[in-house]
Amino acid sequence: MATPTHPEIPPFIPHLIGGEFVESVSGERFESLNPDTNTPLATVASGSAEDIDRAVSSAYDAWQRYWRDMTPKDRERYLFRIADKLEADDEEMAMWESLDTGIPIHQTRGQVHRAADNFRFFAEMATRNLGESFPNPPHFMNYSIRQPIGVAGLITPWNTPLMLETWKIAPCLASGDTAVLKPAEWSPLTAYRLARLIQEADLPPGVFNVVHGFGESAGAALVSHPRVPLISFTGETTTGQEIMRTGSQFLKRFSMELGGKSPVVVFGDADLERALDAVLFGIFTLNGERCTAGSRVLIESSIYDRFVAGLLDRIPRIKVGHPLDPNTEIGPLIHPDHWARVKSYVDLSPVEGFTVATGGRRPADLPNGNYLLPTLLTDVRNDMRVAQEEIFGPVLVAMPFDSDDEALNMANDVRYGLASYVWTGNATRAQRFSYGIESGMVWINSQNVRDLRTPFGGSKWSGFGREGGHYSFDFYTETKTVHVATGSHKIPKLGV
Ligand code: NAD
Repeated sequence: MATPTHPEIPPFIPHLIGGEFVESVSGERFESLNPDTNTPLATVASGSAEDIDRAVSSAYDAWQRYWRDMTPKDRERYLFRIADKLEADDEEMAMWESLDTGIPIHQTRGQVHRAADNFRFFAEMATRNLGESFPNPPHFMNYSIRQPIGVAGLITPWNTPLMLETWKIAPCLASGDTAVLKPAEWSPLTAYRLARLIQEADLPPGVFNVVHGFGESAGAALVSHPRVPLISFTGETTTGQEIMRTGSQFLKRFSMELGGKSPVVVFGDADLERALDAVLFGIFTLNGERCTAGSRVLIESSIYDRFVAGLLDRIPRIKVGHPLDPNTEIGPLIHPDHWARVKSYVDLSPVEGFTVATGGRRPADLPNGNYLLPTLLTDVRNDMRVAQEEIFGPVLVAMPFDSDDEALNMANDVRYGLASYVWTGNATRAQRFSYGIESGMVWINSQNVRDLRTPFGGSKWSGFGREGGHYSFDFYTETKTVHVATGSHKIPKLGV
């Protein structure tokens, strides 16, 4: 198919500060690349501490003037309007997301609808009373209330940018906080398109702000701004550590959604056809650039050869191509630097001794852009770098195991603990693994299906804090306890 272009991407992507689309104070810009060609899609305003300061001031002002004390019902109306606008814009938004990130269009369409769902879900939650009461008759009525905190700094990664941004923006605004979003520099386009939709939804100026730019400048300035009491971060573990170092001086509240190296444990008693589908889905959708990717498949020895044969039959048939081609199943990786990083893991084969069973190279018919064939590595040991480190691309490692204990030890013998997946027909074993596996989330006989009410997040080096349901509100609100005397309880008298 000829490379489609999309003429409506504007040449310049500005910040949104205080309800206005603006340049950086410095006038500096950077380029966002098309991963299919590595040529610029647009130039983008490159924010610095001054832009962050303007955005935070606007957000603080808007918080005090409009948003903090707005009725939950009114906030809900705004968020519903944003959801409607997103849904009405689904095709254009999905195209921008695909062009900017390389994610296949049939997947970004789903992401746009999930983004709209995020607004609807948290809009409804805004109207629920999330406090608790602790009656203590006859003398006290005690209760807790949830109050907005102020300006939240939202820092997001380049993978599935729109979905992950709305996953923070929606509960932040629903809670009564205002937001300064710092999107990732490799995928800024849909944050701008979303900002336009939010403007069209007539949100009061300053409630939602976007400052584009690099982590070391715009991101770091947001983290060290004294008027930003909370930072919700999704990204790499090392970046999370850096952010915590900077933010600790201000005792900020953090939510840390970090990297993963999630195991998929497949037992011989599982429905192996469904397990195979799920393993392929878990590592190769979203170009393998998924935090919860099932990137290590642990296979019971008795079925190892058969299961690997199934993988080797299917993987070479996965369609790699242009992200706007509706038949594409894997598009180009986000950036040439990231392509090189992913490829460098495959190239460890002679050093570490694993086998590149399929893939591991650029497709012959796609000489440009950041394309990589879906890859399976076998003869892998769990202590190899490819089994321990997050590759964040379409690269699956397969390892056999002989017993339940060995499988559990291998699953847990990694520093990350975001997601895990277990395939078995044995309910007792499923329960034992659900409990024993060290990860924030476990899916049993399923791929990665989200329920917005459930807590999402990691353990170990995958971070802390949970997003989803009321857990998001735990982060974006302060819990205050009110003690009201309802009778004349005894007060000790001093100095009489
Ligand atoms: P990254 O850490 O490089 O960047 C994430 C964001 O942080 C970007 O906006 C970047 O500009 C900003 N940043 C970088 N340095 C900063 C600093 N010093 N101060 C403030 N901000 C800074 O991550 P990435 O490469 O964009 O994303 C991929 C990573 O994100 C992977 O590790 C992936 O697993 C992780 N991720 C985790 C989840 C989850 O829910 N746990 C979800 C998606 C992605």
